[in-house]
Amino acid sequence: MNDKIAVIRGATTVNSDTAKDICESVTELVGKLVSENGLNTEDNKPIFCIISSTADITAYYPARAVRESGVLDCPLFSCLEPPIKGSLPMCVRVMVEAVGLDSARHVYLRGAKVLRPDLCGTFAVAIDGPSGAGKSTIAKLLAKSLNMTYLDTGAMYRAIGLKMHNSGINISDEAGINRILCDTDISVEYKDGVQKVYLDGKDVGEEIRKHYVSKLASDFSAIESVRKKLVEMQRKIASERDCILDGRDIGTKVLPNAPVKFFLTASTEVRAKRRYDELTAKGEKCDFVTVKKDIESRDYNDSHRKVDPLKRAADAIEIDSSDMSVEQVVAKMTEEIERKRGERK
Ligand code: C5P
Repeated sequence: MNDKIAVIRGATTVNSDTAKDICESVTELVGKLVSENGLNTEDNKPIFCIISSTADITAYYPARAVRESGVLDCPLFSCLEPPIKGSLPMCVRVMVEAVGLDSARHVYLRGAKVLRPDLCGTFAVAIDGPSGAGKSTIAKLLAKSLNMTYLDTGAMYRAIGLKMHNSGINISDEAGINRILCDTDISVEYKDGVQKVYLDGKDVGEEIRKHYVSKLASDFSAIESVRKKLVEMQRKIASERDCILDGRDIGTKVLPNAPVKFFLTASTEVRAKRRYDELTAKGEKCDFVTVKKDIESRDYNDSHRKVDPLKRAADAIEIDSSDMSVEQVVAKMTEEIERKRGERK
């Protein structure tokens, strides 16, 4: 266990000044902070929790709500925020200090906003969308021009799929998957700004791009323990540097507070054509109809799995790239990212 103290922040709003609404909002917020950060486990001991509320919340003491709910067992302290002109009414803010966390997951609910983005560390851009929508091409270009790190999360799922395949593990063998998972070392390194993915110390960058690995990645990515391991790694990487991440669940699960989120789509026909061109350019033998079918089946798997399915985050900007050039998509996203970055300065 590391002995670093992490400061986790969160805020929410309350519907009305009644004990019921105050308890509901505060318990939801602290419950989310606990679950998102894995608090109250052996390794992550919260030290204390400070709760502040705006003066229009009077019907119940927020710390009492937390204590009575039992969601966080540590010393609690409530205080009143001084009235600040223009600040959000009916608002409760929480700060938890905890030992043993690699990174803090801040939580903002019910319209509450990050007041001090400078304290939330790094800047992240989430790009989600189905296979072949152009996410990685666009993300690489953006990362280069904006001097950010590109994290290709699909590559991590591909590496896991490859490992399970090489270990002869079947998708229905949950115990086997968990055993192999404990024994799998995935690491991501950056050389001259290019992401390298290592599986048990071996660079698997080329192998994981092969067509057969796409299906393996999609199948094994539906397993909860696989997602848990990779989501933790992705959050840690994003907490250490400004990142552009692409995937299926970045805006909804990995970084729900990312300041900029995009959902990039394109018609199935266009996406299949892009993937077909990409594979044939690399000399892989394939036919268009099979590539299209595989894309459709991956779309279905990814958006229908139980754990963190592919879906647009409510606050993501949707871009349909079917009739757009790469340059047009990059320009549109750059404008939005620059605007959001400017707001933080
Ligand atoms: O993006 P890419 O095609 O490399 O992703 C391979 C597979 O990994 C996807 O079809 C999806 O099943 C899975 N994936 C995921 N969540 C992510 C990224 C990829 O489930 N964040």
